[in-house]
Amino acid sequence: MQNNLIAGAWVEGSDSVDNINPSDLDDVIDSYARADAAQVNEAVAAAKAAFPAWSTGPIQARATMLAAVATEIMARKEELGELLSREEGKTRPEGIGEVMRAAQIFDFFAGEVVRQSGEKIASVRPGIDVDITREPLGVIGLITPWNFPIAIPAWKIAPALAFANCVVIKPAEIAPASAHALAGIIQRAGVPEGVFNLVMGKGSVVGEALVNHPDVAAISFTGSVETGKRIAANCAQRLAKVQLEMGGKNPLVVLDDADLGTAVDCALNGAFFSTGQRCTASSRLVVQKGIHNAFVDALVERMQALKVDNALTEGTQMGPVVDQSQLDQDLKYLDVGRDEGAKLAWGGERLNRATQGFYLQPALFTETDNAMRINREEIFGPIASVIAVDDYEQALEVANDTAFGLSSGICTGSLKHASHFKRHSQAGMVMVNLPTAGVDYHVPFGGRKGSSYGSREQGRYAAEFYTTVKTGYTLPV
Ligand code: ADP
Repeated sequence: MQNNLIAGAWVEGSDSVDNINPSDLDDVIDSYARADAAQVNEAVAAAKAAFPAWSTGPIQARATMLAAVATEIMARKEELGELLSREEGKTRPEGIGEVMRAAQIFDFFAGEVVRQSGEKIASVRPGIDVDITREPLGVIGLITPWNFPIAIPAWKIAPALAFANCVVIKPAEIAPASAHALAGIIQRAGVPEGVFNLVMGKGSVVGEALVNHPDVAAISFTGSVETGKRIAANCAQRLAKVQLEMGGKNPLVVLDDADLGTAVDCALNGAFFSTGQRCTASSRLVVQKGIHNAFVDALVERMQALKVDNALTEGTQMGPVVDQSQLDQDLKYLDVGRDEGAKLAWGGERLNRATQGFYLQPALFTETDNAMRINREEIFGPIASVIAVDDYEQALEVANDTAFGLSSGICTGSLKHASHFKRHSQAGMVMVNLPTAGVDYHVPFGGRKGSSYGSREQGRYAAEFYTTVKTGYTLPV
């Protein structure tokens, strides 16, 4: 049994839930406590009590603690990567890579602690000094999804603590093990009791209680659009600061002048790696007519060769879908696509492997148009569609014709089209000859339209959310 961390103590919940390995349903990772609303209140109270000392304490101590977190994560990357792959289903190399990313994020924000700066500028009124500084917000609630079970907690916790806030985090109910392990590391790094709290459990209980708590100054959320909108409305009700990262329907444009190998690599990686369960996945492949057939043939050939198996099996390139309900959603959209008249070029079969798990072949639809549901709604699985277009102008129009705007990509040898696309793509992140998924940790992450709400995450831009600005005026008399 793995417990919640509240006020520096590991405490049982009101009940618990088994964390099941999606690659092997007989493998129960452990049982994880589920907190109730009263425990959320205790965690918030502990965070509130810890805030005055934490937020005015020495910055070197904070920087050292965050660096210690990074060091332990990195030292245990194999073990934590395996745990992550076991609970989420991404391949072991992807799991280890994500763990390393979490360490790099803590390392970056350890540095940010001592790089914090303000501005000092002249007043328009003679003799007065003006300075602009940033201060922490107080208690911050973090709500995270299952698809990046250590990286997303890391990219919210690290800046929250670096900028001297206290934290209560609720990880996804179906994959809490990585966040739980991270909580232990944060505690061992010497973060004082109450500064960091972990409350696991249901969104409808723990998440709601956190979002609606009057002492939680801000909520940073990553998850579905539906939940995000609900959280934003609840935060607006009590004027709490909110930041949402939600879905995507990310286009990868492939022009006739693209390098075919590069375009196929980008599509394969962007659409199917991590089992397509990334908000930056390339789900719409917008392909110009001249290269269309060669592209589809080459992509299908690569999909057929993709090794789908247990996430921990050596050589696996794509692990299982995360759970039964996500698998049901994927299978539903395969039916929706067929019913809408799209052609299933290849894939979409349920697969049996040596261990019982949620295995699904990657699937590619062709002969689709952008009005189809499979091109408008986020599927969040290893399913992509090809939309054929006549020219660059039509490709750009199709790429932007979506309710989302997280990431986008273009494969082309043309500087003119690449430059135009970078400027006119309505997405927060634009990739040229690169997959739509896969980002750096020291630069902003986020999107537009229905994909994101509030300020950007990661890199120096994280300060915008995790701090509040103060303008000081001084008359030196
Ligand atoms: P996903 O499809 O990634 O599970 P969700 O939006 O359902 O997307 O979940 C993302 C996170 O939001 C999870 O930690 C989940 O428990 C939490 N959550 C779900 N419903 C609510 C809610 N009503 N209030 C707050 N958090 C919620």
